[in-house]
Amino acid sequence: MIQLKSPREIETMAAGGRILAATHQHVKPAIQPGVSTWDLDMLVESFIRSHAGATPSFKGLYGFPGSACISINEEIVHGIPSKKRILKDGDIVTVDIGVHYGGFHTDSAWTYAVGTIAPETQRLMDVTEASLFAGIREARVGNHIGDIGAAVEEVVVRAGFTVVRDLVGHGVGANMHEDPQVPNHGKPKRGPKLQAGMTLAIEPMVNAMGAATKTLSDKWTIVTLDGAMSAHFEHTVAITADGPRILTTLA
Ligand code: MG
Ligand code: MG
Repeated sequence: MIQLKSPREIETMAAGGRILAATHQHVKPAIQPGVSTWDLDMLVESFIRSHAGATPSFKGLYGFPGSACISINEEIVHGIPSKKRILKDGDIVTVDIGVHYGGFHTDSAWTYAVGTIAPETQRLMDVTEASLFAGIREARVGNHIGDIGAAVEEVVVRAGFTVVRDLVGHGVGANMHEDPQVPNHGKPKRGPKLQAGMTLAIEPMVNAMGAATKTLSDKWTIVTLDGAMSAHFEHTVAITADGPRILTTLA
């Protein structure tokens, strides 16, 4: 069932989303060669908890051990922070963060370059980010879930990359994962109709080569089957009568 949020509840989510956006800003300068994903997770957790009433959504969610999911290169999502995972020059790293505040979750992931990355890797990141904003533009009253996925997929396919189909975006609110699912592919005018008060985590995951995935033996980390790079950009977005409103932003 899709849980619509009141304007007041959306304001509460926007307050949590500002903390989340500030957390990304806080961790970004630390993303350097030689830093472990454990170090980044500590920064995320301490910064979120420094805001009264805010906690990291992912800590303990379904048993996940970290405060952030931190995924390097061919890892698509759900990388477990580890002292043994050291960033090196040329890597890309996705930091996926959830914040619980005032009874609501928000969810936002960003892929960052570590040092100097290959031009083709930069293009993968740029296209994935552009596909996120193409999807957000379609998150408006009267459209359908399929309009979001179709817009994301069009940007990705035109660039010669592939959308991950095994993983999807989602409704977000009192629970981190709510209805509806928000696939990163689809057909316009298909799927649930979008209404004011829906809050969605829109999150294209884009692979440099094939779409196929596999889960590692740690039972969490999902990687590209072919070992090629993957990027992931995510915002929590409210659908309002005035159009899409990004909640996980400092603005
Ligand atoms: Mg996320
Ligand atoms: Mg999400």
